[in-house]
Amino acid sequence: MDIEVRGIAKAYAGKTVLDAVSFYAKAGDIVSLVGPSGVGKTTLLRILAGLEPPDSGDILFGGKPAASCSLLCGALSGLSLRKDTPESSSHPAIMVFQDYLLFPNLTVHENVAFGLKARRMPRTDRDRRVTDMLAFFHLQDLAQRYPVQLSAGQKQRVAIARAMVVNPAVLLLDEPFANLDRNLKLETADFIRNTQKAFGITTISVTHDLEEAFAMSDRIGVMLGGRLEQYDTPAELYSAPATTQVAEFLGPVNFLPPAVCDRLALAHGGNGLRIRPEALTLTSHPQGKGIVTAISYGGHYIRYKVQVGDARLIAYALHDGLKEGDSVQIGVVRSLNLTDS
Ligand code: ADP
Ligand code: MG
Repeated sequence: MDIEVRGIAKAYAGKTVLDAVSFYAKAGDIVSLVGPSGVGKTTLLRILAGLEPPDSGDILFGGKPAASCSLLCGALSGLSLRKDTPESSSHPAIMVFQDYLLFPNLTVHENVAFGLKARRMPRTDRDRRVTDMLAFFHLQDLAQRYPVQLSAGQKQRVAIARAMVVNPAVLLLDEPFANLDRNLKLETADFIRNTQKAFGITTISVTHDLEEAFAMSDRIGVMLGGRLEQYDTPAELYSAPATTQVAEFLGPVNFLPPAVCDRLALAHGGNGLRIRPEALTLTSHPQGKGIVTAISYGGHYIRYKVQVGDARLIAYALHDGLKEGDSVQIGVVRSLNLTDS
């Protein structure tokens, strides 16, 4: 089911949180909305879930407006207490909350079964469906455990399984990586993508975890100051951020003023160049125009600070043997083409 979001605005106590947010999610796509904390991501997701009315704007699911959901049905994240079947339910989206909201007094199996039970699915069908779902999510061995006996990653999978079991048309994920260890985040991003593609379910995820959003999404929207600044594929967003603000939100950007470009014999259009740290190359050379001033380790990459004239540049690279004080030649793999600079 596709989703069209048109001009959603929301203010709390006169303070604008969302300012005319519009985007289109193709059926079966996975979309991440990324932005700093407090930018309105959860608010937007709650509006999409029908838990909160927008001040203005429309949301169309499969071309039709959705009836809003009661707070109770939303709080149970699609574990609707309504008696309708998943297929006829009035709101097509199910939200998985940041803190999962698993029922502490129910086992994993019972948690996942809850939405089907509320929909009056007969017990045998329900048990079969839950068992299949737990197997798909590699949770079968945990079926009889209680939430308190699960790790964060396992809780996350139970919460997603519980949402998926009722066969929603749209899945809404609020900060799906928030409570996970770094190593588990990328694994979870892969898992969400594979699950989502296997079920063909249109998914909107909001997160401040950029790496995971880039890894799993068909499209990414960048939210800054209540506005959706850019909405593109990960590749487009990475290579062509629309504005300096978007580029800088996604990662550090070096600015090489015209004089520094001239000194390095780099072609520029008169305004200097903006270059990502990983798009600079360093080559040890006695006549190089740059001086390495610091070397530090970022875990899976090495960060070099290089002084060229007045400019201090940052390069991410691996150069065995380069030391502080060494002279380097600086090359550019690719510069950013920002329309506002
Ligand atoms: P994010 O999820 O991006 O961190 P939120 O959507 O939670 O951001 O919040 C965006 C802004 O809206 C914040 O300034 C927050 O304090 C405010 N806000 C969210 N919900 C309410 C509410 N129910 N009443 C008043 N202010 C709210
Ligand atoms: Mg939030």
